[in-house]
This record gives sequence, C-alpha cells and structure tokens, in this order.
Amino acid sequence: MRRAAYFAPRWGGEISALGPEQLDIAFITHLHSDHTGGFADFLLTGWTNQRDNSVDLYGPDGVQDLVEGTLIAFRDDIKYRLYGKEPTNDAGWRVNTHIVSEGMVYKDDRVSVIAFPVHHGSWPNAFGYRIETADKVIVYSGDLKPSEKLIEYGKNADLLIHEVICDAGYKKRSQARQDYQMDNHTSAVDLGVIANLLQPKMLILNHVLWFGCSEAEILAEVQQSFDGPAVIANDLDIY
Ligand SMILES: [Zn+2]
Ligand SMILES: [Zn+2]
Repeated sequence: MRRAAYFAPRWGGEISALGPEQLDIAFITHLHSDHTGGFADFLLTGWTNQRDNSVDLYGPDGVQDLVEGTLIAFRDDIKYRLYGKEPTNDAGWRVNTHIVSEGMVYKDDRVSVIAFPVHHGSWPNAFGYRIETADKVIVYSGDLKPSEKLIEYGKNADLLIHEVICDAGYKKRSQARQDYQMDNHTSAVDLGVIANLLQPKMLILNHVLWFGCSEAEILAEVQQSFDGPAVIANDLDIY
C-alpha cells in the first residue's frame, strides 16, 4: 500500500488510481504467507484513507480463513474506528470473498482476469492470472514449477511476469533443498525455454530467489534460450 501510495497525488505522485482509497480489488495466487501477509494492510489502510466501499478479494479456496482471521485479529481496531469519537464509514472494512477456479474470474468494462491452475509443491490450489485489456495482455505466473497451464494461458502476452530461481545458486544447496525448489519453483534456465516458447513482448522476472547470484547471472541463464527483452523487476518500476 505504501509503494502504491507513492504514486498517488496526495503523496506527490501522478497516478490517482493508485491512491490507497482507490485499491479495492485483490487477486491472490496461493496462500503462502509471502503472498498474503499484506492483506490486513490492503484492507485496513485503504479504509482508514477514506475508501468507503467494500473490497473484493479473489483467491483459492482457503482465502475465506484469511479474511475471517484478519477480521477477528483487528476486531477491536474496527470497532474503535466505527464507534469511537472519530467515526469512519461502515463499508470500507468489509470484504466480498470470491473463490477462484480455472477460467474467467473477473470482468469489467476495461479488464478481464482469467485464473489458471499451476503446480506449486503440495499446495492443492495455486493459480496464475492472465489479465486482458483492450490492447494488452499481462500474464502473472504466481509461484510454480514449469506447468502446462502456464504454457496454455501464457500465449500472446505483452508482459509475462514470472517468478524465477537462480540455477547456479540453488544447485549449491543440499539435494533435499534442490528437490524442494524444483517441485515449487522455476529455474532461470527453464524459464528461458518457457519464454522462448511463449515469446512475450517482454519478460519480467519477479519473486527472485537469488541464492547469491547477481542480476546479470540470472539474466544470462534466461538468455541461454530466450533472446527477447528480459528484465528483473524492482519496486516502483512502470512498464
Ligand atoms: Zn509460494
Ligand atoms: Zn512465494
């Protein structure tokens, strides 16, 4: 929320759509804490910055527990803000939860969001998302080992935003750790093969597991098979 707010006019930026009170839809790929830990911030920071409508949260089965647990954890805070001496609106803390499965999960007059299942270790339901607008396609891998559905849903992408781990780095780890990584994540060399197959207009690496590697090493591993534009994402980058 702070990173988004950086772009909002109230904090000196130029993108009013990224004001905390404007953010009211979120898509969760899977329930690992590094992908859900910011939920309370998303929900409550928007509300306390005057968002006066409920939020819509999309995610795999189990996401209802995230919502319920968060509302219990912040119950006293919510009551204080609703019934204290500086009352705020009674809508912005509320959540409409949507359980996703393969296919179109969201559509409005500007974007469609399509969920596709991916293999991420022993998670029973992990997803990537394909976002389609009138003139752009953005595919977000989520966390995954190389998965057929990513190939199926990843075609004709302007941006393919994909997780990655450094080959040279993870191969120095114990065999058990390597086995874990290979069942949960995608190595940079394998990602190069996938990107070469899909030919996105740009490949953006995020969720990088560095294991001591440099940006240049990881990009070189990808470029063994993919010669299109590839970059490693930084917070606040705009593409
Ligand atoms: Zn994960
Ligand atoms: Zn993760």
